Amino acid sequence: MSPLEAADECVLSEECIDQYLWSVYERAAKVDTIKVEERIKVTVEKNGKSRTVTKTVTKLVNEDFTWKDPDAAQKAGMSVAQYVIGGMDRGFRLRLYHLFRALDDAGLAPGMTSGFRDDYRQSIASGNKAVTGNSYHGGSRRGGYGHGLAADVVSVKGETRSERCSSSDRMWKWIDVHGKEFGIGRPYLDKDPPHIAPIDGQEYADKRGVDPKLAEKGGTATGLAEQLLRAPNAKAANRSKISFIGGWGGDVAECRDSPITITARRAEGFGVSCEFHSSQRESSNGWRMRAKCSSNTERWNANIRLTVSAGKLTWSSERGTTTYVRCPVVSASR
Ligand SMILES: [Zn+2]
Repeated sequence: MSPLEAADECVLSEECIDQYLWSVYERAAKVDTIKVEERIKVTVEKNGKSRTVTKTVTKLVNEDFTWKDPDAAQKAGMSVAQYVIGGMDRGFRLRLYHLFRALDDAGLAPGMTSGFRDDYRQSIASGNKAVTGNSYHGGSRRGGYGHGLAADVVSVKGETRSERCSSSDRMWKWIDVHGKEFGIGRPYLDKDPPHIAPIDGQEYADKRGVDPKLAEKGGTATGLAEQLLRAPNAKAANRSKISFIGGWGGDVAECRDSPITITARRAEGFGVSCEFHSSQRESSNGWRMRAKCSSNTERWNANIRLTVSAGKLTWSSERGTTTYVRCPVVSASR
């Protein structure tokens, strides 16, 4: 086993993160209690005459929606994993990963009942749902595949459905308290309890308002939250000044496909991760880091110099020098 596997955490590989998210998806039963309106005929007596009227009654029924994602994935020509996990925004997946790991650690056993949904999938959804195309799960008006910014989560802890329901309640409360640390919240609270989204995204802002702490920095929220998230131990005042923090790529296409992510504490990308063990600011736009780096096959120490100038980052180490462009921040309003 490689040291990375032994560490039992996806230090960086996107594939590993996606696999973990998929396991969280797979373990959740796709069952829901939904309200169904039914029109029934009843006979009423009025003034001694009996007549038949139609009444609408609401019933709670269990719905098994296990078939829906596979059906939609097949229509899209993808595996279910590619569809439900791969259709979500990359940064959001990373947040989900950290959130789910924390929930697992807290003994709350998260399960995902829904990730990405395209317009077709949305059209066959039941219960609380947005108009087809408007869903932040990935509707066409929100950017479609690759831009899903919502997931539905429940707890799979408990033998019976009612035990799992109360575990889910506890889990949602936990997310209300701790979710922000992971950049995730519940936009609708108890109106749609399982639905979670980035706290700096449009959906959350529309329903719950903008976090003033995020707003005052003025940044786009996604970029800013990434900074806050990735540098939890850094002093808040310094965070916004660390200009190397963010996503970088050789060019814009690489930003889309495989950006590297740099935080105050680590850099990740191309199957390599580097943990910064010490950093020293050399100038207003230059830093020197000592780092431990690892890939699937090796580990090494690196002395890295980062320079940021005019939106470009120069990364120099014993292994060479590369220049990257800053990746555009994914708009949270897609
Ligand atoms: Zn949802």
